[in-house]
Amino acid sequence: TAVGPVLPAWAEVDLDALAHNVGVLRDRAPGADLMAVVKADAYGHGLVPVARTAVAAGAAWLGVAQLAEAVALRDAGLTAPVLSWLSVPGSDFAGAVRRDVDLSASAPWALDEIAAAARAEGRTARVHLKVDSGLGRGGAYGQDWTALVRHARPLEAEGVVRVVGVWTHFAFADAPDHPTVLAQQERFFEAAAEAEREGCRPEVRHLANSAATLVHPAAHADLVRPGLALYGLSPVPQVDDDFGLRPVMTLRARLALVKGLPAGQGVSYGHAYVTPGDTVVGLVPAGYGDGVPRNATNVGPVLVGDHRTTVAGRVCMDQFVVDLGPDSTARAGDVVTLFGGAPGEPTAQQWADATGTISYEIVTRIGPRVPRVVI
Ligand code: PLP
Repeated sequence: TAVGPVLPAWAEVDLDALAHNVGVLRDRAPGADLMAVVKADAYGHGLVPVARTAVAAGAAWLGVAQLAEAVALRDAGLTAPVLSWLSVPGSDFAGAVRRDVDLSASAPWALDEIAAAARAEGRTARVHLKVDSGLGRGGAYGQDWTALVRHARPLEAEGVVRVVGVWTHFAFADAPDHPTVLAQQERFFEAAAEAEREGCRPEVRHLANSAATLVHPAAHADLVRPGLALYGLSPVPQVDDDFGLRPVMTLRARLALVKGLPAGQGVSYGHAYVTPGDTVVGLVPAGYGDGVPRNATNVGPVLVGDHRTTVAGRVCMDQFVVDLGPDSTARAGDVVTLFGGAPGEPTAQQWADATGTISYEIVTRIGPRVPRVVI
C-alpha cells in the first residue's frame, strides 16, 4: 500500500467506512437523532475530518468532552449543534456561549458560571442537565438532581439559560443486558419527568452509547450518542456480530531494517525474546512513543506481507522487532500492518485482548507523531 509520502508509520483513516457506520447506527435507531462522539481527537482518528464526514453522513449533533474540542469544531466551520460535557470552574464558558456550544451542567456552580457568561455575552446559554442515574461519575443524583433542576428554573426565567437537554451515561457500556442498564434507564426517565414537572422543556433526552444504540432500543430516547461504533469497533466484542460496522483506522508501518539473527540471540531491551533458531527479523518503526502499548511485548499481532506474527521482545519508544521466520523474503520498506479491517489483518480488538485493555484505548492512544492519512 503506497499512501502519499513515504512515512515510517501512519494511520489510514477510511472516511467512507465512517460514513457507512453512521448509516448503520442511524438504521439501528431510526426514531432518534444521532450525536457523533468525536472527543479525544475522534478517538484518535482526527477530529475535524471525522466530524465533517459524520455530519455529511447524517449525524445531527457532535459530542466532545472538552471546550477546546468544541472550539476547534467551530473554528473549522462546523455549525451542527455541539455538546461539550466536561468543564472545571473558571472555564471559558463565555467563549462557548459565543460560539453556540451546548454545555453540560452537573452542579449548581456550573449553571451559575454558564449563566454569568451568558449575561456577559447577552445571549442564552444552551444547557444539558446531567443525571447520575447510576454511573457514579458525572451528573446529579436524588436531592442533588432536584436542586439542580430548581437552580436552573430561575435562570431560564431570566433568559440566560435554556435547558435544551437532559442526559445520562451508562456504567456497563459493554453489557447492555446488565441489570444496572434497566435500573439506570428507569432512574433517568424519572429524573427527566421530574425536570418537566418543575417546568423544564428539554428538546432532547439522551443516554445511549454505542452498545445501547446497537442492541438496546428502549434507551434510544430522542438522541443516541455513539462513539466507538462510529469507528467500526464493536462495543460488545463478546457478542458474535459485527453489526456490519467497518473499521475506520488501519495502523501501518514500513520495515526499517531486515536482517538475519542466529539461534539463541536475545532481542530488544531485556532480551524478553530469544530467537528459537536462525531467523530473519524486521524492525518496525513504531513504539510506545507512538502509542503502541509497551505491554504488547511478545504478544501484539502484526501482519508482514501475508505472514502473521507477533511483536518479538520489548516494545521500545520508537520501534519494535518482529521475527519473520528463517525463510522470510521480506525487505526493508515492506509494509507492516499492526491493525486494520481487511481480512487477515489483526484488529484493534485483538491488540486490546493481547494487551489487557479495550479497543477504545488502542485507537485513542495512537499519538500525534503518527500522521493520519485520509483514504
Ligand atoms: N457519552 C459519553 C458521556 C461518553 O463519555 C462516551 C464515551 O466514553 C460516549 C457517549 C460514547 O460511548 P461509546 O464510545 O461507548 O459509544
